[in-house]
Amino acid sequence: MELVVATRNQGKLKEIRRLLEGTSIRVRGLDEFPDVPEVEEDGDTFEANARKKAETVSEIVGLWTLADDSGLAVEALQGKPGVHSARYAGVGAGDAANNAKLLQDMQGIDRNRRQAAFCCCMALSFPGQPSRLFEGRVEGLVLDIPRGEGGFGYDPLFLVREYGKTMAELPMDVKNRISHRGQALRKALEWIRTTIG
Ligand code: IMP
Repeated sequence: MELVVATRNQGKLKEIRRLLEGTSIRVRGLDEFPDVPEVEEDGDTFEANARKKAETVSEIVGLWTLADDSGLAVEALQGKPGVHSARYAGVGAGDAANNAKLLQDMQGIDRNRRQAAFCCCMALSFPGQPSRLFEGRVEGLVLDIPRGEGGFGYDPLFLVREYGKTMAELPMDVKNRISHRGQALRKALEWIRTTIG
């Protein structure tokens, strides 16, 4: 089957393709559908944004569509940057600016108050059917110095305690196994395999 993944983020596409290697599911990113407009992520929750993206895109392309919304929720910042993770330092801000703002906001917060979680909600939609939702979450700590070259986004600042490494220091396969998106995606895939795959 063909599965449209409603993202233009190459980092996410790469992770999802890797997780689907060996299956008969062919992943198509939005770069293959240049006419699909940008869907504004204006919801208050990861779920609302994922649902909106998956439903809008599946209606346009007429195919099964998977969309995710994800981000970092930091306890000491009352869940911020949350749904604003991609534009924390402003619309169009890149990873470096977002990470710099996070470091600034966390200044002076000591180590035992730096808990955070990466959260992901995935919505799977097909025109005319209700969306299915799948969630994942991974706990960690926000460091005060970035470490590692892998991953994307806030990965260099996010320490996974069990490994003593940041997400950016972990090999992609390990990140996929434990990550919020990996967890949500495996739940979505299980549903696809048993129901429509
Ligand atoms: P989305 O594309 O709207 O889901 O935005 C997600 C944003 O949250 C990204 O731009 C990153 O800043 C952050 N984010 C989500 N997942 C990850 C991850 O696995 N590692 C690092 N940052 C992430």
